[in-house]
Amino acid sequence: MRFLRFLRSSVSIGKDIDYYSKFSPSPLSMKQFLDFGSENACEKTSFTFLRQELPVRLANIMKEINLLPDNLLRTPSVRLVQSWYVQSLQEILEFKDKNADNEKVTYEYVFISLDFTFPHNSPCLTQHVSSISFTDAVIKIRNRHNDVIPTMAQGLVEYKEAHGTDPVVSQNVQYFLDRFYMSRISIRMLLNQHTLLFGGKVKVNPAHPKQIGSIDPHCRVSEVVKDAYENARNLCDRYYMNSPELLLEEYNVKDKGKPITMVYVPSHLYHMVFELFKNAMRATMELYGDTMDHPPVRVQVGLGTEDLTVKVSDRGGGVPLRKIDRLFTYTYSTAPRPSIDGSRAAPLAGYGYGLPISRLYARYFQGDLKLYSLEGYGTDAVIYIRALSTESIERLPVYNKSAWKHYKTIHEADDWCVPSREPKDMTTFRRF
Ligand code: ATP
Ligand code: MG
Repeated sequence: MRFLRFLRSSVSIGKDIDYYSKFSPSPLSMKQFLDFGSENACEKTSFTFLRQELPVRLANIMKEINLLPDNLLRTPSVRLVQSWYVQSLQEILEFKDKNADNEKVTYEYVFISLDFTFPHNSPCLTQHVSSISFTDAVIKIRNRHNDVIPTMAQGLVEYKEAHGTDPVVSQNVQYFLDRFYMSRISIRMLLNQHTLLFGGKVKVNPAHPKQIGSIDPHCRVSEVVKDAYENARNLCDRYYMNSPELLLEEYNVKDKGKPITMVYVPSHLYHMVFELFKNAMRATMELYGDTMDHPPVRVQVGLGTEDLTVKVSDRGGGVPLRKIDRLFTYTYSTAPRPSIDGSRAAPLAGYGYGLPISRLYARYFQGDLKLYSLEGYGTDAVIYIRALSTESIERLPVYNKSAWKHYKTIHEADDWCVPSREPKDMTTFRRF
């Protein structure tokens, strides 16, 4: 049994959070990420940037976690998530005063283990001193945060079960989750770039030799679309014993006749398109039932001078306008909730996280994701991505007075009339 004892006390961590949250995060452009990771990139530069930027991004969002309702903060799952953030911040801050000139920057930490002596088996506490490199610390932090999304989601379930729902709390939670998950996407981007570039013996990722970390400078959009389609189709076949075909069209206005490529993170694009395919397939299969003739899912990829657009169109019956905004609410789903015991295969739908998280991925580099529907016919889901890598700049939440006000302002009555149903007595109107 091992107990890790950190050199920083929990009192000073509060001060560290206050201190680092006063800095605004520094958004990077896709181009900067590329330059950072290309030939002249060095671990030292990355280390110097990250040991300041990671505490800033962590502290900014930790301040917002603290603004959640007390009863939500007290749920075991949210406490667990908070403890991961505290631990990760502590671990990064251990590198604060380290000299970047060392080939591999390390810090020493003390841990105490509870050992049992032989032959009497009596317990004794032993103090060890060990050291960890910055890159290993970054890997450890990234792995620690793997399950943040389901754990936070579980915290919300625990809260709702104990305290029910309240429109003000729901609005604040939606606002918070958008910012919290966006912050997480951005922190993971930084962690991944560092570990992919400097974690192994060689800088090149053997699985994707042309990528700079997680970025593909020549990402073939249609290839990612096809890959996502195949995987979504496998899930769909498993649930419905059938699946719609794919119709894929490309319109390259910028470089006519050439396949569309762009500088992007393929895993982000894959995530978004995969979620849209699952939704489109489910809507189609639910509407057409057992008929063997399902309309295909049509995908159009267009590259203009400003935007790269991916439109996923289905004929699954659409959604009324009244409900469109609701679809981006975390946990909103019309599918039965999947079992969480992990014994079942990945579900096609049911968590209600597909659309809101995909929209965050699109917005992360200044793009967007929108749904347009023809109720009764079908839905167009459109992903917008900036075509120029200089304009794909991280969109990051910052903790400041405006953010604080969002949580603290009492939401007053709507400043538009709430439409009533049919007027009861039309004679009242005749008098005017
Ligand atoms: P998961 O998190 O597993 O994706 P989900 O699919 O239910 O679960 P979302 O992807 O966020 O969650 O979608 C929310 C809801 O929006 C769906 O349950 C569905 O009712 C509706 N929806 C989304 N896309 C479409 C579509 N193309 N056609 C009709 N309804 C859709
Ligand atoms: Mg979905």
